[in-house]
Formats: sequence, C-alpha cells, structure tokens
Amino acid sequence: MTVDMTAEIKRLSGVGPAVAEKLKKLGIGTVEDLLYHFPRAYEFRGNVKTVAAAEDGETASFVLTVMAPPTSAKTRSGLMLFKLPAGDGTGGCTVTFFNQNYVRTAFTVGASYRFYGKVSRRGKHVELNSPVYEPYSDSLLPLYPVYPATEGFSSVRINRLISSIVDRTDTVLPENLPDEVVSAEGLMSRTDAVRAIHHPTSLQQISDAKRRLAFEELFGFAKNARSRRKRDDAGPRAEMRPCDCSAFRAAMEFEPTNAQKRVMNEIYSDMTGRGRTAPMRRMVSGDVGSGKTVCAQLAAYIASENGYQSALMVPTEILARQHFEDTAGLFASFGKKVCLLTGDVTAKAKKEVYEALENGECDLVIGTHALITDKVAFRNLGLVICDEQHRFGVNQREALLKKGTGAHMLVMSATPIPRTLALVLFGDLDVSVIDEMPPGRRTVRTAYRDESSRDAVYGFIRDQVAQGRQAYIVCPGVEETEDDGLIPLEALTEGFSAENYDREMKRRKAAVNYAATLCTDVFPDLRVGYLHGRMKSSEKNAVMGAFERGELDILVSTTVIEVGINVPNATVMLVEDADCFGLSQLHQLRGRVGRGRFASYCILMSDSPGATAEERLKLMERENNGYKIAEFDLKQRGPGDFIRENDEKIRQHGQLKLRMAGALDDARLLYRAFEWAEKYTEVS
Ligand code: ADP
Ligand code: MG
Repeated sequence: MTVDMTAEIKRLSGVGPAVAEKLKKLGIGTVEDLLYHFPRAYEFRGNVKTVAAAEDGETASFVLTVMAPPTSAKTRSGLMLFKLPAGDGTGGCTVTFFNQNYVRTAFTVGASYRFYGKVSRRGKHVELNSPVYEPYSDSLLPLYPVYPATEGFSSVRINRLISSIVDRTDTVLPENLPDEVVSAEGLMSRTDAVRAIHHPTSLQQISDAKRRLAFEELFGFAKNARSRRKRDDAGPRAEMRPCDCSAFRAAMEFEPTNAQKRVMNEIYSDMTGRGRTAPMRRMVSGDVGSGKTVCAQLAAYIASENGYQSALMVPTEILARQHFEDTAGLFASFGKKVCLLTGDVTAKAKKEVYEALENGECDLVIGTHALITDKVAFRNLGLVICDEQHRFGVNQREALLKKGTGAHMLVMSATPIPRTLALVLFGDLDVSVIDEMPPGRRTVRTAYRDESSRDAVYGFIRDQVAQGRQAYIVCPGVEETEDDGLIPLEALTEGFSAENYDREMKRRKAAVNYAATLCTDVFPDLRVGYLHGRMKSSEKNAVMGAFERGELDILVSTTVIEVGINVPNATVMLVEDADCFGLSQLHQLRGRVGRGRFASYCILMSDSPGATAEERLKLMERENNGYKIAEFDLKQRGPGDFIRENDEKIRQHGQLKLRMAGALDDARLLYRAFEWAEKYTEVS
C-alpha cells in the first residue's frame, strides 16, 4: 500500500484531536512529518551482560530465565512491589516492578526473557529495577528507538504510531529521489531507509539508512538553493558602472591584507563588471576580526557612487550602533549620509530616517530587523548587506531585497567553512573567503596535554587567576547523562561496538562528578561559576553576567559557551576530553580567549584518544587558520560535525533542517548530492 505522505496526521487511526494537538507540538502535522520524526537515540539492548558482570548503576540487557512466579508485597508508601526471581548461568537476579499488576501473569516459569534496565548491586545481591522485557529469541532487535517526545505523549507512543505504518510489510513510500540517482549512488529505497532508521535490525542497515536519508536532505537542500539562484540570475539587476574607488582606498586607516584586496576586487567586479546581467549574490566568509567590515563599506561606496542606496542589516542593536559609528564619519568625508534604524531609536528619529530613505537623501542605512518593516521604503535601493548572515532567514533577506529592483546582495559570515561545503550549503551564493588575519594579531597558544600534566595545568590556571585573569573550563557531554544508556543517532556507525559503548558510558559518568569536583576540591578557594545545559536561560545569563563583570575567576561549562560572550580578561581555555569535539568547534571555543591585551592559552586535555584523534589535536597546536582546520576536518571526518555544529545557521539559511546530514561521515556524498541537484534544478 502506497502511503499518502501529505495526509494529515489525524487521518491515522488512533489519532484523535487531543493526540493531534500533542503531535503538533513536536512539529508533526502530516504522515510525512511523523515518518521523518527520527529517533534521537537508541537503547542498545544488544549489549547483553551476565549477572556476574553487572555493575551497580549501569543500564544494560540481561537474558534471564524465570525461576518462580513473582512474589508481591505492599511497601510503606502503599505501592505494590513485585519481585521476580530469575537468573542466568552466572548468578541469580531479582527483577522488581512497582504497581504493575500485569506482571503477576506475564512470565512463564522456566522461560527466558531479555530484560533491559538499570542495575542495582549490593555485594552479591543483584536487582534489576522496572526493566522493559520481551520473550527471548535470536531475532530480537538490538536497537530500540527513542524519540524526541513531549509532555503527555511519550517516546513509546510515538514508536507505536510509527510502527503502525513501517511494520506493515506492504507499506511503500513514494520515492522522492530520481530513480537514476538512487541506482547510480547505490542508495537504499526511501521505504527501506525510513523503516530501517526506526527499526534497525543491524548496524550496517542503520548506516545505509542514514546515508540515504542524508543524501535526500542534501539533494533537496542544494536544489532549493540552486533554483533560488537561477531565479535571481534571470531577474533584473541594478545597473552599476565602473567607478573610481581611489578616494575610498585613500581614506582607509590601514593597508588591506591580500585576502581583503582579493575579496574587494570580487565585489567590485560583481557590481560593476561589464556585460553582467545578474545581480551580485555573494558571501564573504572570514574569521572574527579578519576585516569584513571594510568590504561591506566598499560595496556601499560603489553603490552610492552609482546613485543607489544601500541597507546593512545586522542582528543586534549594539552591532548596528558599532557599524554606524565606524562608518558614518568615513562616509561623511565623501559627502555621503549614513542613518541608523533600530527598534530603540525614538519615533521622531525613525520618522526622519524613513523620510531620508524615501527622498534619497540617505545613502546607507544601518539597522536591525526594523529595516524590513512596511514603513521602510527606499527611493532606489541597489544593495543589501547582511552581517552575521546566519542570523537571518531567507525570507528576511528577500523581504529587504524586495524593497529595491534587482538589488545586489552581500552577506557576511564569521564561520570558517571549506569552499566545497559552502557550495552545497550556500549554493545560492558565490563565496569569497578572507583566510588571512591583519598583521600583528596575537594568536592563542594551544597545547595538547594528557592526564600526567593535570596538576601542572591546574597550577597554570591558578597562576593566571593570581595575576588577575580569568579562565574557562569546558567539559563535554554532561547533559547527556539524563539519557543514561542511550546512544545518540550520530554515534551509531558501522564502527560502533559494545566495547566503545561501555567506554563512552563510563566517560559520561565521570564528567558529571568532574564539574562538581572542580568547585569543591580543585579550586575551593576561587570563585567558580557553573553553566550546564539544563539551566534556564535566566540562570545562565546570571552566571555569564557575573563572569563578564569579573565576579567569577573560573567559568566551568558543560555546554558550548555562547559565541556572543566577550571577556577580554579571560586568558585560559581548558577543554576536557578535547577529542570529543569537532575541530571547528574547538577553534570557535578557542576564539573566546585572546580578545584582550594579554597573552592567551588554550589547553586541550585528552587521554590516549587514539592515533587519528591525536593527529587532530596536534593540528590544533600548530594551526590557527580556521579554514585550514575546517578543510582538514572535512577530509578526515566528513561534513557531519560541521553540519551539526552549525545546525541553526544552516537551517536559517536554507529554511530546511538537516536532520540526518549531521550524521554524515563521507564528504564525497555531499558533492555528489550537489552535482545531481544541479542536474535536476528547475527555475522556481
Ligand atoms: P570582522 O571580520 O570580524 O567583521 P572587522 O572588520 O570588524 O572584522 O575588523 C576587526 C578590526 O580589525 C577592526 O578594528 C578593523 O579596523 C581592523 N582591521 C581590518 N582590516 C585590517 C587591516 N588590513 N590591517 C589592520 N587592521 C585591520
Ligand atoms: Mg564584523
């Protein structure tokens, strides 16, 4: 039976209005949404342990034979407690259940079951508390899906709904990739892939399914971007002629770097090149501090020399004001007028800006989202610039572009991205890269250390604090502990084994205690603040604010520290289990220090991470160029890390969430998705 993917979810049996409402909270409105609601993780029930080897506190599977019917007793709090005597060849185990009356008759004495749950162990006495269970057979699935759920609608219920479709053997999903592509790339069919991602029977199957679904996403993503671009290329263009920029060059306070010169030339020829029929669609990508602003200023200068107005849109009022202060004086010296338009300027000032834009008096307006409101109209808008490109969605950029005819567009991004990856993710843009820093910048000295240096590292942090500086300590993965025993979707690859699973679980446990130990045992005399993923944002802001004001010496964080945080006095960044992070992420983290006038350091801690991870960490010691780092990462680990780390940015750009591409470890697939998309793109 072919599934109607567009059917509303309430057409499924068992989905009434109340359930539909709950599903809506999860972003599920159609059958397709439901089937593409992928597990966030899996319970690894294939990790079967013996009773003798069971450790207190761990979550694992056991294959146990039931010895006798359950006994029941009332606890002091009035609950019914059932105890089921069971065991395997290595020892006896009591399986306990609370208030679950049906367990009285659920088990056959002498039969074997697979139990999955949390162990508690006191010496020889082993208990398994409220486990899930199923009659044992050789064909039990090793992996059970765990879904993003919502209050009142659990993962188990989501699984049941999805099962009602994918477990039917006659279910067929309409293929959404061209047949030619599926066969040339050796991809799974859509039906098989969706079934396998929900109910995998082997690791091989799950990795094939991820490949297929990631390909499908990237193909769709690239197709959207390309068709947007083709539409723009065929549209009107604000005509601009070559103009003399020597006055602008003379007014610059510094000699541009070679990279800046190259990018400025690219912008100049996009905007003024003879014979061009398409408007500029360009992204300037460069690390923080690489000098993107001057490129934007030049573009606005060129537009105004051609009699056009420009708009520079930035995500925050602070940034708008900063750009305004940097630009207004410079432009005034050429007799050009710059205006500021943000939500917080007075109504009177706003009105003046609106007028100056309509009558053409204003050459460049710098502002926030306030620029896209209906009140703003231009006399002749010829250039749109978006700083921090990822903070604006396609729709917002287009809303601003629509205020002119054939306006050129320049977007600026501070995320180093390899060109090949940019081709796919930002396929509607040409990409210029500023891969060079202005001279004289301090680099952050980076060192990779193992456990044997721990005391020295703590000593170094103390020294810095004694000199009045501050430090960051980042440790990964603590918030995952709530998901005890779960394997995230991305972590499941063919290389996955019970052994590395065990190691990962131990590491997570250690991380929780570590953060607390730092405050109480390692630096009890210093002012230590603690940020973690489960804090409310008001609590987070309070801690970050205290660190910014210098009221804390050390900020311990289990989440990636907000990119917006800027504490010039912080000079040390210690990253624990550094091999758990992607290199681009480490590079971004390291960018939190070295922002003031003090020498700054980044210490990457990792104990015997293996040869490949070691190579990565050593690269961080010698490489400060974000592009080289990103390139290396893409080659070695594929695009998944990058896509996951920049999930929000990418979603904003293309309006599509890449759910599965974040699990992709093969860069070649990415390029091929792009090439195929190019072939199948139609003008929208
Ligand atoms: P970003 O790329 O982060 O937007 P900016 O354009 O704000 O960087 O530049 C950061 C700082 O570096 C500014 O103070 C700017 O004046 C300065 N700067 C930019 N280019 C150069 C250069 N070629 N030589 C020296 N200083 C520069
Ligand atoms: Mg900038």
